[in-house]
Amino acid sequence: MASPFRVVHTVCSHDCPDSCAVLVTVDESGRAIKVAGDPSQPFTQGFLCGKVAKYLDRVYSPDRILYPLKRKAGIAKGALVKGREHEAFERVSWDEALDAIALRLKAIAEQYGSESILPYSYAGTIGVLGFGSMDRRFFHRLGASRLDRTICSEAGGQAWNLVYGKKLGTPAEDFRLAKLIVAWGANIHGNNVHLWPMVEKARRNGARLIVIDPYRTRTAAVADWHIAIRPGTDAALALGMMHVILREELEDRAYIDEFTHGFERLAERVRDYTPCRVAEWTGLTPAEVEQLAREYATTRPAAIRMNYGLQRCENGGTAMRAIAMLPALTGAWKHRGGGGALSTSGAFAWNKRAVERPDLQIASTLGRPARLVNMCELGHALNELGRDTEQGNEGTREQSAGPAVHALFVYNSNPAAVAPNQNAVLRGMARDDLFTVVHEQFFTDTTDYADFVLPATTFLEHTDIQGAYGHYFVQLSKQAIEPLGEARSNVWLFAQLGQRMGFSESCFRDTPEEIIRQALAIGEDGHSTNAGMEHIAFEDLEREGHIPLAFHRDPEGQPFLPYTHGPLATPSGKIEFYSETLAAAGLDPLPAFTPPAESRWSEGAKRFPLELLGRKSDNFMNSTFANLEGHRKMEARTNRRLEIHPLDAESREIREGDLVRVFNDRGSLRLTAMLNPNLPAGVVAAKLDWAKLHPDGANVNQLTSERLTDIGAGATFYSALVEVTKA
Ligand code: SF4
Repeated sequence: MASPFRVVHTVCSHDCPDSCAVLVTVDESGRAIKVAGDPSQPFTQGFLCGKVAKYLDRVYSPDRILYPLKRKAGIAKGALVKGREHEAFERVSWDEALDAIALRLKAIAEQYGSESILPYSYAGTIGVLGFGSMDRRFFHRLGASRLDRTICSEAGGQAWNLVYGKKLGTPAEDFRLAKLIVAWGANIHGNNVHLWPMVEKARRNGARLIVIDPYRTRTAAVADWHIAIRPGTDAALALGMMHVILREELEDRAYIDEFTHGFERLAERVRDYTPCRVAEWTGLTPAEVEQLAREYATTRPAAIRMNYGLQRCENGGTAMRAIAMLPALTGAWKHRGGGGALSTSGAFAWNKRAVERPDLQIASTLGRPARLVNMCELGHALNELGRDTEQGNEGTREQSAGPAVHALFVYNSNPAAVAPNQNAVLRGMARDDLFTVVHEQFFTDTTDYADFVLPATTFLEHTDIQGAYGHYFVQLSKQAIEPLGEARSNVWLFAQLGQRMGFSESCFRDTPEEIIRQALAIGEDGHSTNAGMEHIAFEDLEREGHIPLAFHRDPEGQPFLPYTHGPLATPSGKIEFYSETLAAAGLDPLPAFTPPAESRWSEGAKRFPLELLGRKSDNFMNSTFANLEGHRKMEARTNRRLEIHPLDAESREIREGDLVRVFNDRGSLRLTAMLNPNLPAGVVAAKLDWAKLHPDGANVNQLTSERLTDIGAGATFYSALVEVTKA
């Protein structure tokens, strides 16, 4: 007898390196009754993380937004009490919402120019379609400002590419073979959980785990050695390690000669980075710097798992660049299980031109590519841009000139919570003359400022295709259930809007399957023509759900060793210790340590002497999941807490459990003090949370700045100085 249940292959689209294959069981009525990790996907290994294991509670949450909403007349924009948001909005039909939005966008474009419309999105979904496809077509054709999507990974990504040309890494499955794993700014146990079994296997075979992180994460707590480095000093440590490695002749000369460029100049540069000097910056002892360098350079295979937190400092690009050079110096890439990983995303050669259609910009009323607006400078964009174009605020880079922003279209993101300099962001979003549309699954900090709120699907409710930044599988995410209520996907929304705007190009009528075929660049023989995907046909994906990239099809017979075959995609074709690209731009072509402008070494530390880590939770995904009671309970120990070193607390007469005020010139937040002797002295930590769930209507981004990173113009969440007093 046929089973009354269907099992559908989907992919978790949350912003996580693991991109799990998720099997969804659906009953006869069409309701999903179970989610589980796919046991046949070698990296997912049949399990899901704590965030997603109970995902049906989220999909079927009574708090889901299920139909389009329009702000009621006379209701001012601003924070709304959780659970009472409906009082500010009235239900409208999709037709009414889409007609009104299209009309208003047309009017704004006519009056102020199309660049006065700003899309704002990031990785609320990382599926190829959901992240950027029909939305890009729509905004390109409209001539809207282009969003410079740098908030998360651009500093590290560009830094990596300066060294290696392309983001590749040691296959996650091969970490099990390492004899030393260095988790540098990487909380593997907390948010890269499918790598953790590989770490455990390696440790059972005698590997050591070293964690370099200012915060004692779950991973640090169980490591063989936790190095609680001061925030923003990672570049100094990496350069100090190079100093020791070269001084003791532990480098791999044969590898350096064959695969790298600029070694002699790097060797000259690191001569100054003595363990004593590095110790002063990092808070380690000179002996610890030497021990780390020796252990790293003399253990084979040694793998460094880097993650993006460490590049969210003013010098974060350089830090990542310096760390990325270490395996090239020791030849660690030659050994299976050695090398390292920041991201594997460079391996997925999607046909983005077909998916995103940047050529449509020429068909817009602008007739050219629109200006770029950096998403890390949203406060500036909403308050200053086009009003006073002379200077960005507070040391941020000057943004391109053009009109003020009069329409903000938010999807896949919650900028009112996650963007830096929250006071400026909220002030801008509260503007009466700003037309704001938010496509969302739940009422967030951002929907409180919307004119229209549109219901969005979860990954169970739409079709997508996905790569990963933590493994090498192409995966198809099939729609498992009908959308709840009137929720609709990004693709549907922007196709509808495009048609209402009168965009006649046929691409605005493409179905999700057609866009997937375009992303795969399916050729005449029915297979992808993308590099590394030539063996993949759409039908294979439909049948199998997940297929490894070409070089990862036979990991046992032909293991993938990145950066062991030239030429690489850098200007020299080699791994670049010395970057001619940076030199041509008038920048330092070699890595160097410069203390962040907001750090214990800066002038500002006289007034605000503590370095703030606005850290991420193990059980939230940035701000996603923070509204769910089950997830909040898992985070209860540190919810609304300010973690402070006992010495810093004592000098301020602060005791465990005291209500304290954390502040700087940008903002202020009240939290409960929690003494934490594992933090470096002079560092305080508080979690990113939803502002509306806090009595002050604020979160740690009150305190962060819009300064940008040295490479990649990314966010500098971890370069923020504060002071703390009893509230
Ligand atoms: S959040 Fe990450 S680990 Fe959790 S299910 Fe999604 S992809 Fe897997």
